[in-house]
Amino acid sequence: MENKRILNKLSPEWNEISEIVVYGFGRTAVRNVDKLAEDFHISLIIDKDPQIHGKQYGDCRVQTFDEVKENLPGKKVVVATSSVAYTDISRQLQSLGMKEHIDFCRLKDFMAEWYWKNRHQVCLSQTFSSVTSRCTFRCKHCNFFAPYFKEGIHYDYDEIDILKDFEGYFKVVDYVASWSIIGGEPLINKRLPQIIESVFEKYGNHIGYIQIISNGSLVPDKELLDVMKKTNARMRLSDYTHVLPYQKKLEEVKQCLKENGIPYDMSVYEQWFDLGINTSDIPEFSGSTADTARHMRLCATGCHQLNDEKFFFCGQGFARTKRGFCSLQEGDCINLTACTGSIEDKETMLSFCMGYPPKGYISVCKTCYGMGSDNNRIVGVAEQM
Ligand code: SF4
Repeated sequence: MENKRILNKLSPEWNEISEIVVYGFGRTAVRNVDKLAEDFHISLIIDKDPQIHGKQYGDCRVQTFDEVKENLPGKKVVVATSSVAYTDISRQLQSLGMKEHIDFCRLKDFMAEWYWKNRHQVCLSQTFSSVTSRCTFRCKHCNFFAPYFKEGIHYDYDEIDILKDFEGYFKVVDYVASWSIIGGEPLINKRLPQIIESVFEKYGNHIGYIQIISNGSLVPDKELLDVMKKTNARMRLSDYTHVLPYQKKLEEVKQCLKENGIPYDMSVYEQWFDLGINTSDIPEFSGSTADTARHMRLCATGCHQLNDEKFFFCGQGFARTKRGFCSLQEGDCINLTACTGSIEDKETMLSFCMGYPPKGYISVCKTCYGMGSDNNRIVGVAEQM
């Protein structure tokens, strides 16, 4: 019954729509827009970033809120941004008299609910898989705690591990718009070409696109380049050269991708969140169930992770427990080996992805400051240990 309530947040008119407005044209939107364009006419694209104003997608030019605000009432707006940005955008849209879940909603809620009701599909915006805990850098505030893994507890996955993960996952999920491969630094894993090729061959029809997220410190070898070409995989390069001196190597990586016709985009971060490491330093969210649930929903990173035949709400849920900073408790993840692909499994997966796990929160949130508006611990990017 709870799942049914969660999957019925949008007003009934959303079921009739053939046209949407996409608000936000950053990384989240770009990962999903091709899937949305297959099923809807995208009439407007809005973003506040001046650097992408004027950018074209199909017939649409990315415009500012002020340019289009008079045309928005009466339209259905899908907001494709982080949770923090969503709060500001909600206020803007509400100032026009628009209402959440009637006139606008988050992308992940839209995809979960619309495709379930109208196509009987579990359609997710994105899923990440980590292939190694090893990294070329030692970032103190690494989201995945890479420098805190030591010999003996490091992990590396191969294609057999990752295929096992997907076997359970695709019993429950029908389609994922993007699959992102992360580390540590994923290019350290020598089985990366085999991992990508085997997943593409078996499940390529259920994945919008495959992306490797790398720090750009390692040049892909021929085997990886060939597989990336064959599978149309892309690369996202996190550029830390404003902090770490590896400009020459990063240029070499970019040149190599260009020469091989592999699409890539760059991410430059101005700041990171300190998510906290030591459980005893993080008392704020160890309070009531309601406090923890609120903390989780304020963060709601949506970076769902698939590893160890489990589906985690966020990468933190995986990395913190894998490293042993806290233990996994009942309801913190979906154990895919126990899933049969029943309607109930599918509804549980959708509710979980929308931020409603069985207990209302995941217990890992109690030991994590999160990335929501209640964390003001801003730290320097890629500060080395
Ligand atoms: S606060 Fe919770 S949802 Fe957010 S990153 Fe931490 S563990 Fe994940």
